[in-house]
Amino acid sequence: MLTQLGDDAKLLAGGQSLIPLMKLRFANPAHLVDLNFISGTSYIKEEKNTLRFGALTRHAEIEASAAAGKIPILHDCAAGIADVQVRNRGTIGGSIAEADPSGDWAAVLFTLSAEVRCLGSKGERTVSLSDFIKDAYTTVLAHDELVSEVAVKTPSKGSAGAYLAFKRSAPVYPTASAAVQLTMEGDVCQEAAIALGCVGLTPIRAKDAEAAIRGHVLTQKTMADAVEAARAAADPQSDVRGSTDYKRALVGGLVKRAIEIAARRARGEQVEVGHLYA
Ligand SMILES: Cc1cc2nc3c(=O)[nH]c(=O)nc-3n(C[C@H](O)[C@H](O)[C@H](O)COP(=O)(O)OP(=O)(O)OC[C@H]3O[C@@H](n4cnc5c(N)ncnc54)[C@H](O)[C@@H]3O)c2cc1C
Repeated sequence: MLTQLGDDAKLLAGGQSLIPLMKLRFANPAHLVDLNFISGTSYIKEEKNTLRFGALTRHAEIEASAAAGKIPILHDCAAGIADVQVRNRGTIGGSIAEADPSGDWAAVLFTLSAEVRCLGSKGERTVSLSDFIKDAYTTVLAHDELVSEVAVKTPSKGSAGAYLAFKRSAPVYPTASAAVQLTMEGDVCQEAAIALGCVGLTPIRAKDAEAAIRGHVLTQKTMADAVEAARAAADPQSDVRGSTDYKRALVGGLVKRAIEIAARRARGEQVEVGHLYA
């Protein structure tokens, strides 16, 4: 249908981004192609080393999923998006395809090995998430392509993560967020992935922050170095949510807390986290 209808057609998934944009007249598609009529597009499949999400899987389904709960950072993300109404409608595929710089899923999935399966009239291709998102609201998807699945590699034993977002209230997008996935061996951090959300046009992998803790014992000093590097990596815009300096300071605090929680979880501790509200 996308091929037949041409550029004026848009896919509709949960409608939680597209419909508000249409109400604001920022989007004005001539045709909506509703994915909700296609069966078999919402699923969570646990395979040997991979967790597969059908594109139409709702945030709330992921929040409630025992399989997704085994990767705590996924639960942190799903449970914290907006409010119950948005989570009941919004989909993981729609979030990734929207590539909203303030969206939660992309920042979290940047710390995991995540791939996006794209389906179009010319066939199917699989793209790593970091290659999939090109810029703010821009992905590699061709007009006649859709996201059919998001696949996440199961982290190895001793690896766990945490996702924290700071929001002004529940149904608004975060002011800043931090996703951290660590592999711990005792007190030593063997592997680290740190992604910053809402402080750039796309999620930012804070590579220098990762290097500051990788191969080191997590001490106040190594964590402070990581925080400093994360603040330097952030590239926030000043807007209604806060000034550039405020967001840069905030994201550092979120990174520190997320490192601490991820490390405790990686050592086997059960730690509940929720987003932080102003
Ligand atoms: C009040 C409110 C607060 C929100 N707060 C947050 C928040 O804090 N954090 C957060 O992450 N999100 C937030 N959202 C957005 C929500 O998570 C959306 O669900 C998500 O961004 C888009 O998913 P959707 O299924 O609703 O997509 P839709 O709105 O249906 O579609 C979004 C875009 O993606 C395209 N699209 C959809 N599915 C596919 C697909 N399978 N393949 C290719 N293209 C596709 C559509 O054509 C459209 O351009 C909020 C939304 C609202 C209304």
